[in-house]
Amino acid sequence: MNRSKIIEKIKSAEIADVFVIGGGASGLGVALDAVSRSLKVVLAEKHDFGKGTTSKATKLLHGGVRYLAQGDIGLVMEALKERRIILSNAPHLSNIQEFIIPFYNIWQGYFYLIGLKLYDILSFKSSLGSSRLLKKDTVLKKLPNVKSEGLKGGISYYDGQFDDTRLCIDLVSTINAKGGSCINYTSFEGFNKNDKGVFEIQLTDHINGENYTILSRSIVNAAGVHADEIVKKCGLEAHFSILPAKGSHLVVSKQMLSSDAAVMIPKTSDGRVLFVVPWHGVNIIGTTDIAVQNKEYDPDVSDEEVEFMLSNCRNYFNDPPEKENILSKYSGLRPLVTEHKGKDKSKDVSRKHKIVKSAAGFYNLLGGKWTTFRKMGYDAVDFLIKDMGWPSRSSFSHTFKISGPSPESSEDFIHPDLPYNKNFFIHSIKNELVESIEDLLARRTRCLFINKKATLNILDEMIDVMAEIKSKDQTWKLNQKHLFLHLANKY
Ligand SMILES: Cc1cc2nc3c(=O)[nH]c(=O)nc-3n(C[C@H](O)[C@H](O)[C@H](O)COP(=O)(O)OP(=O)(O)OC[C@H]3O[C@@H](n4cnc5c(N)ncnc54)[C@H](O)[C@@H]3O)c2cc1C
Repeated sequence: MNRSKIIEKIKSAEIADVFVIGGGASGLGVALDAVSRSLKVVLAEKHDFGKGTTSKATKLLHGGVRYLAQGDIGLVMEALKERRIILSNAPHLSNIQEFIIPFYNIWQGYFYLIGLKLYDILSFKSSLGSSRLLKKDTVLKKLPNVKSEGLKGGISYYDGQFDDTRLCIDLVSTINAKGGSCINYTSFEGFNKNDKGVFEIQLTDHINGENYTILSRSIVNAAGVHADEIVKKCGLEAHFSILPAKGSHLVVSKQMLSSDAAVMIPKTSDGRVLFVVPWHGVNIIGTTDIAVQNKEYDPDVSDEEVEFMLSNCRNYFNDPPEKENILSKYSGLRPLVTEHKGKDKSKDVSRKHKIVKSAAGFYNLLGGKWTTFRKMGYDAVDFLIKDMGWPSRSSFSHTFKISGPSPESSEDFIHPDLPYNKNFFIHSIKNELVESIEDLLARRTRCLFINKKATLNILDEMIDVMAEIKSKDQTWKLNQKHLFLHLANKY
């Protein structure tokens, strides 16, 4: 992908059918569905693709066992179907993952088994494997570090797992290759409607500071937690409000959980579930759920959250990690659509997506989750087509193969703790709309999420490689290093 060519195409196009605000999972779902219906689509992302919540997921492709407990059967069924679509359309970035729930009370064990059997039934033809009861010995064989005292057994079930921002960038390549135009570092500033009812959309290119205007017949606002600000900025009435809820994760070595299986801790001290999931050679522990006011891109993981996650691990594992064993940590904001303003129990708010019309031709796609990004896009485009009175067009987004390089396919890793070789970095800098060292180390590769210290060890080398390929000078290099070190403080 080439930035100048994409921008040239955006500027020279006569008029787009759909303009999408936001290059996270939701916006990419809209753009994917729109190109699959042969609509002309332009997507602008203010920062880098996936910089928002989209890069901060637990990396699960799931129906949501938790949503089942809340009785949200429709949401679970929809997500289970989408889980299968991602696994088959992006096999290089996703896999089937076994989860084990250890239980210490026999009745609880049967309760989870019944719930997960229902999960199997709801997945229907998309099932990834049968849930089953495991004897205590089998649990200890599979999870040698789990606490054995009082352990009665475990439940094994299957879900999916993926790499969120690699999927993001491969979606961008796919959409652009199919005729769409997705561009990063370009913000939506506002619009006027001309006398033909067409939107004149004002954009700012943050790489060269240029402002320009493009035309579109409709707009879909997929700005995640920022969606309500966009609506207000446009002078439209927001018929919704977003309650941001912070979810944090810790990344630790595989010492506590050396198995290929993930663990679901079914009830933490605050009544939530907590996952410990193997990913790229490390384990991710998460997540918390805390209502917040500030909409930051990289919220702090507080000491309380760290202690909460570590102490819940201590309840279930021998040899749990301590604070000094944390390799990285990250936090993201759930874009939950509030049903009642001021309701602050975010774990009770529905994860189902909503499509809200703010004005003729202006739609907001809100809430949802990564697993259902394609269906969210499908629903938004379907809604838009009907509302605009356009002739119906079939969607083929469920058939689109999302292809791209497989990050871990070769050896010669750049660092013993980072599963990428140098060619992968070079390929990415040249082809994947990389503008900063952060794009390269946090989202094209997942170095910063996997191991912060190792990432800092390769930082200078990678800045040099990038500067050479992109012909950048010493000032650029110093500035990139400064910005990255500042960001890395949060991880
Ligand atoms: C802690 C946590 C764990 C999660 N784990 C999972 C999981 O395991 N599985 C799962 O399925 N889901 C998971 N989710 C949910 C999932 O990650 C989110 O639903 C999804 O990423 C939201 O994507 P989005 O595109 O709506 O928002 P975002 O990713 O935030 O994207 C919105 C984008 O809009 C851009 N934007 C804002 N203003 C403008 C503007 N003026 N112009 C242009 N662009 C603009 C922003 O820069 C941003 O990139 C998790 C969420 C959290 C918080």
